Amino acid sequence: MKTYRILSLITLCAAAVSCGDKWLDLEPSTRVPSETSVQLVSEAVFALNSVYNTMQDPYAYSGRLVYYADVTADDMIAVSSTKRTGNYYRFNFSRDNAPSTHWYYLYNMIANCNIVLSKIDGLPTQDDAEKKLRDNVKGEALCLRALAYFDLLRIYSYPYTKDNGASFGVPLVIDELPDIERKPERSTVAKCYEQIISDLTSGINLIGDTFQKGHLNKWGALALLSRVYLYKNDNVSAFKAAEDAIKGAEAAGYALWTNEEYPTAWSDDSSANKPGEVLFEIINLTTDSPGKEALGYLSGTGYKDYCVTASFYNLLASDSKDVRNKIFKVSSKIAYVNKYQPQEGEVVQDANIPLIRLSEVYLNAAEAAVKNRDNANAVKYLDPIVKRANPDKTVAGEDITLDRVLLERRKELVGEGHRLYDLMRNNLRVERVDETAPSKVSSIPKHYAKDLSFDWSFYKIVLPIPKAEMDANPSLAGQQNPGY
Ligand code: CA
Repeated sequence: MKTYRILSLITLCAAAVSCGDKWLDLEPSTRVPSETSVQLVSEAVFALNSVYNTMQDPYAYSGRLVYYADVTADDMIAVSSTKRTGNYYRFNFSRDNAPSTHWYYLYNMIANCNIVLSKIDGLPTQDDAEKKLRDNVKGEALCLRALAYFDLLRIYSYPYTKDNGASFGVPLVIDELPDIERKPERSTVAKCYEQIISDLTSGINLIGDTFQKGHLNKWGALALLSRVYLYKNDNVSAFKAAEDAIKGAEAAGYALWTNEEYPTAWSDDSSANKPGEVLFEIINLTTDSPGKEALGYLSGTGYKDYCVTASFYNLLASDSKDVRNKIFKVSSKIAYVNKYQPQEGEVVQDANIPLIRLSEVYLNAAEAAVKNRDNANAVKYLDPIVKRANPDKTVAGEDITLDRVLLERRKELVGEGHRLYDLMRNNLRVERVDETAPSKVSSIPKHYAKDLSFDWSFYKIVLPIPKAEMDANPSLAGQQNPGY
């Protein structure tokens, strides 16, 4: 099959990855289908599936794109400096050797989405069912492109809240045609947010609202929209999107896991009959396994690559009735996060990867409500998360502060790739507290790590634009992230 020639920036970046440091770079598995191969809706479905296939890679959402924001912050730590996560934890990367896979995989997703979106409107349909399928494919492609751009911004650009989006975002490529001569500049963060929100709102009007295993649907997309608005500090819109997502998802059968379900629900094989609380996840299977670089194998019993800090362990353990203590798996006095549990009959590296959970959407709603000075709704959406963790606890009757919501968010979402971004977008500090746990877990020595305390003025809170990209694209001259 003829493969698509993608943008210069992506092609050259791909060519360069094979000569980088081993820990940094591996080539993605997916090839984009030929331009001429998308002539039927069924072929657009095939092209869309290649986006999900790219996402499944352990250097994408089955691993690195998720753990990056955990091991660069305060609650998780590489077990030693030589572990896979060690260079991230230590910020041991430079302009010339920083990982390029984050960039490569996300632009690969975008290129595939652009191909689908360039063809989809003109594709013939036989009946209403096929027209509905076509709309759904278009909606999914728009929302997945938004997800990819949003994650590029989270990794390569300063928070919107730092300067109202005035600083460098990423190159915005939204039309289909790969133009080998095109050398896009970085757009501003504000311009990128505009595109992301436009894609999501258009996509949400087209995407299906029923459970479709492993696919983004309307409720997952609305949840993502609430996250995007929260990062943009548009809290009225964030609250509305979160509330729409919660109401819609719950009417469609999704529900927060109960206290009893919580410790093991991560291994549930969700279905239309029992969708659970995961609104969007990467499906890994024994027959389609991401291998041992995936989160299940890295965070738990496999490579034992990264774990929680003693201070985070103590934070949760201070309430022994908090059910979230049960997501620790302690081995040789090290506490791993055991959220990536394999489905029945699988080994641990085949664990699915939840990317958007209903719990996060409750916390998005609560945070937006606090920022809107709407205490009633802050209580309304925070309380179910607090009570689910420990049925004896409640925040009813309290004045909810931002700190209170973020404390709960920290406890709830540990290990799911949020922490660095949650602190930075709120202009808070990463404080790596050196603390020894009293009995069950040891502290991991932190002396190998630099920069134990930092805020958004630390230049390494973003990665540098990959060297190969800078070298290939003269329009990016002078547009590297400051400090690199
Ligand atoms: Ca699985």
